[in-house]
Parts: sequence; C-alpha cells; structure tokens
Amino acid sequence: MLLAENRVPFGAIYVPESDFDNYNSQVWFISGQLRYYLARITTAPFEIKVCQDKHANGIYIASDDTYADDEFSINTLNGSLYIKGGKRGVIYGGYELLEIIGCRFFTPDCEKIPTLTTLAITEINKREKPAFEFRDMDYGTIMRYSKFATQCRINGRWNGIPEMLGGSIGYALGAHSFARLVPHHEYRDTHPEYFSFYNGRRQNIENDHWQLCLTNPDIVDIIVDNARKILKENPNKKILSISQNDNPYNCQCEKCLKSDAEEGSPVGTLIKLVNKVAEILEPEFPDVTFDILAYHYTRPASKKTQTRHNVCVRLCASTTCFAHPYDKCDDRTRAVKHPNGKTSVFIDDLIEWSKVCNRLYVWDYTSNFPLYPLPFANWRVLQPNLQTMSKYNVKGVFEEANCAANGGVDFNDMRVYLLSKLMWNPNCDVDAHRKEFMEYFYGEAAPYLDQYLNMICDFVEKENYHLYIQDIQRPDYLTDELLGQYNLLFDKAEMAVSGDGVRLSRVQKARLSIRFVDIFWNEILNGNYNAEKINQFFTDLRAHNISRLDEWSNIERTYRAWMDGKARGVYYTSPFRYDAESIL
Ligand SMILES: [Zn+2]
Ligand SMILES: [Zn+2]
Repeated sequence: MLLAENRVPFGAIYVPESDFDNYNSQVWFISGQLRYYLARITTAPFEIKVCQDKHANGIYIASDDTYADDEFSINTLNGSLYIKGGKRGVIYGGYELLEIIGCRFFTPDCEKIPTLTTLAITEINKREKPAFEFRDMDYGTIMRYSKFATQCRINGRWNGIPEMLGGSIGYALGAHSFARLVPHHEYRDTHPEYFSFYNGRRQNIENDHWQLCLTNPDIVDIIVDNARKILKENPNKKILSISQNDNPYNCQCEKCLKSDAEEGSPVGTLIKLVNKVAEILEPEFPDVTFDILAYHYTRPASKKTQTRHNVCVRLCASTTCFAHPYDKCDDRTRAVKHPNGKTSVFIDDLIEWSKVCNRLYVWDYTSNFPLYPLPFANWRVLQPNLQTMSKYNVKGVFEEANCAANGGVDFNDMRVYLLSKLMWNPNCDVDAHRKEFMEYFYGEAAPYLDQYLNMICDFVEKENYHLYIQDIQRPDYLTDELLGQYNLLFDKAEMAVSGDGVRLSRVQKARLSIRFVDIFWNEILNGNYNAEKINQFFTDLRAHNISRLDEWSNIERTYRAWMDGKARGVYYTSPFRYDAESIL
C-alpha cells in the first residue's frame, strides 16, 4: 500500500471529532506525532482531519475502550490504515507503525528516521499487548524525557507521565513506607512498643534502625488512617506500598517470632497486617492495590497466610548475582535465611511466590549502586532473566538503574533501549535490536565496542565470576592488564569515528567508565593524587551531563571528596552540609 509518493500523501490522518484539537487526547497527540514523522520521512504534508467520510483513504486513529490500556492493533483494509488501542496502546500503535516503516527511537536525542521518496507498506494485521502489565525503569533519560519514556512503552515512571502521553500507573507510596505510615518521631516516646524489638530493646531511639512490631494491635488502625489520607490526596495513584524500612532490624519480640515461624517467613506476619488494612480500605478504594516488598528478610514466600485479591507483592532481586541468569548462577553465599534455618536464593523464592501470588511484580537491578560508572557485565542476563520472570507469571517489572542525568555512562543508552524492548516482549530478537543500536549510535566504532563488551562478558562466564549490585571491590575483569586491552579497543573506536563529532562524543562518553576504574583504584584509593587528571575527568563528566557517580551523592560532592583525597561525597539533604568518607 502506498502512503506517499513524490511528496504527495495518499490521504489524511483521521481522528474522531472529540479528539480533534483536544490537548488532553492521546489520539490527538499521536496524530500529531505521525504527521510530524511522516513529513520528516517523505516531506509530504499529511493533514489531520475529523473523521466524517470513512470512504476516503487515510490513516484512521481511534481509542477503543474494549482494548486494555496498553494494547493496540494496526490493520490495513481497502486502501486505508486503522490504528486502534487503549489509552496508551493507541500511542504505542502509532509509534509501532513508524518502527515498521524504519524509524528507531534509540535515545531522547538519537532517532533514526529514513528519507523516502516513495513510502509503501505491505499489508499489516497485528494486535499486540505487552508481556508485563507494569514496566518501569529509573534511568535518567526515562525519568527526564516523557516522550521518550512513552516511545519506550514505559508505563510506570516514578515521576509520572502526562495523561496526554497515556499517563502511568503510579504508587501513592513507593517503597520503604513504614516511616510515612507510622511516623517514628510521633510515637517513639509515647509508644515504644510500636517499634521493633531488636538487640535486647525496642528501637525507639533516634536512628534509622527501626521497623514496626507487626503484631501490635494498634498498628493496623494507624496505618489505615494514614493510608486513607494519602490515597485521598492522590486520587490518581492506584498502588500504595506498605513495606518495611530499608534495614534488617525486624521485630524479634516473642509474638512476632512465633508468627514468623508459623508462617515460615517474616513476610507472613506482614501479609496478615496488610491483608487487614486492604480489607478495611477496599470499600472506600475499590480500585487500589496494596503492595508489599518481598525484600531481604521478607523475600521467602509465606507457607501459610496468602495475599488478598487487592494485595500485590514486589519481589526484590537485591542480593542476586547479575553475571549469570537467575536460574544458572551457582553462588549461594548470599542466600536468604528462613526462620527454620533453611536458605533460598532469588530463583527459589521467585518459583515459590509464583505458586501462591497471582499479582507478582519484580524489582530488578541493572547497575552497581555505590559505583555507577563501573562496567557492569550483565549484558547476557537481560533477556534470560526477563524470560524467567515471564515464565513464572510475573506481571510487572521495575528495573532499578543509574538515575544520573543522561542515564550515566557504561553504555546505559543501549541498556535502556534493550530493556524497553524486552519488557514489552522478552522473546524479541534482542541481538538484532543490539546490532541496530550499535551500528547507528556508534557507527564505524561499533565493532571495537562490541569486542570490548564481549570481552568482559566472556570473562565472567569463563571464570564463573559473580556480580553484585552493592560490591565495592575491584572486579577481576578490570585489572590493569585488561584495562590496557580495553583502552586499545577504545583507541581504535575513537579513531574509526574521528571525523564524526557526534559519534566520537558517544564513544568518549562510554569510555568514561574505563577512566573511572583507572582513576578510582589506581589514584584515589591508592593515595596517588593527580589534580589534573581528576579535574579533566570531572570536566568531561559535566560535559556529558553526568550528574552522579553513585546512588547517594552528586558529582560536585564527589569531586570535592576526591580533591580532599577521600573516596566519596556523602549525601546530605542540606546543601550547606558537606562531609566525605575516607574509605568505602
Ligand atoms: Zn513484635
Ligand atoms: Zn553468578
């Protein structure tokens, strides 16, 4: 079917009257996007018109509430093209058509748009929905660019996606929410019994080492009151997390220990509490789901009490190796202990949860968090792990990532692209997507960069090296000798694109990872102080708009720490407070 030839469009883009010129309409948004990109491809002036005469040839776009929010269809019929979908699906359908034509949305500022005098398509008849109902990641590029997040079909961004772009599935409280639901400062003097009994005392002293005593009968009422307030203030948010603080000091009082043992996991004690809250609030908030984190000590599934229909579980892969797929790694050194003394690794817990919970999400990880720029050899687990999640009936995925502005270094631009394809369809041809990305984004430098990425992945495979997200030792695949080999490849890569400023800059951005490893271990931690080298490194980081080198601090604090001969700037909420850690 011919869509345009010699700058003449085959017809208009037709939208229902209620969507025309309606800036809250997803149909209006994607119609504008199609007009813009089709004009860039063909230079033909496509017009957007109200759909009145269905006999005219054109692209007909309409939302359809019989479709799921993220579902879409594209059909060619009698010389016209029809795109239908749910509120996000209709947008995804429009972008899908552009991808069929040959467009690629690699990063917020790197799109591949073909130029064609004749634009013809073969017959299309497809209807698609994603493998996972919830898809999120917090790379800086996803967090900062709404249109790009939508092109990546992300529907759960923490800072929200505007309704015009399809909106997102939002959390009223995201994670580690005990502090919001039962404020420590409010109750610690009057009701020490509300807080965890740990190390021989109630944790009502001023520190971060507290959890709740989940068997205390008052806790349900306090959580119900605060959850109600928060849900009323956030009517668009449909998930509220009731989850422990980020520490391992859970209640060891007699009642809690007894309950944990009966349940076979401390999560059972938490489920009993959250089930009660969810039951009380259901009549007022029938479309809200209450979330719990299966995280560290709550990771093993309960053997007894199971989640209500309006309670969902987010299983966290935090102490998991990312050099090997979940089901292939043989390292049990970081297995989680159960009350009966047994242990489990992530894949064991995933399988157990999949048997008892029908609304299971996974909180997955894709970076080293204390050392964001570290080359993270996880390329070969991206697809198998998402396939495993899909196999065990996981419904949603959050990829916690490098949230630095511009997505950080270490080829994260490509990770974002591949993860977005895999979250939509874990069985997609990821090698083909990677090849397309590498060849366009890095041009002639691609073969050398591929060789470098394969070297680090071959190493972890051959040496059975395990890779964790919080580890701070120098990985075995980043010795000085190997860095020398990687640097030769980066030299060749830079040479290959020396006449292409944009691609050269992308290669240099990727190379910041290798420079980080060299400066961090050979200079900073070794006491070798080279101000010129440090200054140049930070100048280049700023030039690439990289805002952080770790999860907690910004680069200006890290810069000051390095200049003071310390390893890392410490995060403080006050901009006037500064400190540095001498060792990691
Ligand atoms: Zn207790
Ligand atoms: Zn491993």
